[in-house]
Amino acid sequence: MAVEIVTVPCLQDNYAFVLHDPVTQETAVVDVPDAAPIKDVLEARGWKITQIWLTHHHFDHVDGLPGLLASHPAQVIGAAADAHRLPPLDIQVAQGDTFSFAGAPVHIIDVSGHTLNHIALHVPAANAVFTADSLMALGCGRLFEGTPTQMWDSLCKLSALPPETIVCSGHEYTQSNARFALTIDPANQALISRAQEIDKLRAQNIATVPSSLQLELATNPFLRATDPAIQAHLNMVGANAADVFTEIRARKDRF
Ligand code: ZN
Ligand code: FE
Repeated sequence: MAVEIVTVPCLQDNYAFVLHDPVTQETAVVDVPDAAPIKDVLEARGWKITQIWLTHHHFDHVDGLPGLLASHPAQVIGAAADAHRLPPLDIQVAQGDTFSFAGAPVHIIDVSGHTLNHIALHVPAANAVFTADSLMALGCGRLFEGTPTQMWDSLCKLSALPPETIVCSGHEYTQSNARFALTIDPANQALISRAQEIDKLRAQNIATVPSSLQLELATNPFLRATDPAIQAHLNMVGANAADVFTEIRARKDRF
């Protein structure tokens, strides 16, 4: 499968994604913050969408849906448990479910934390996972509905995917995430280098999303609660990983 993934900047700092399989000509959209920039991509390339995947109910991920559907009808897929507060769904999914896109499986991972019933969509054939506001580039979403332990469990599920997986997350928050990450993991050379690279990219207004899971595992403090240097820096040597994560998340909320 040679799926092309287009990152689409929307609103202030959101990202939607368009997946296109050149063999079947099937096209999917992940989240619809705003219809216009997504329509521009579809129309410029002559792609016809078949599916729209929604990660969670927040307005900045779904509000463009009616506008997109009006001109580009497609099946809408989202979490069964959030059907009451998502736009009308054609296919309802839950943790462990699989549906098919362009003849390949898409796996649903419940990544509750930012919201309850937030889902990530893993497409092994495209080597990609769509994480929206769960795992983000150098960060993770703020905990509006779930507990720190729920978010930690969600991040552990994502961490277990193949390290070469491309992480397509929902916002361009990476530069401020990097500044925070350096307060938690200041001696991490991979993080220091990545922060410099991010500054260069942002100075040219280039997207820092997507990233790779391997890079996140090496540099994202929210995935590194078991790291001895981070635990020492936080005076939490030997502490439970979920407790270390909770402390890092609390510090980010105050940052
Ligand atoms: Zn959100
Ligand atoms: Fe968001």
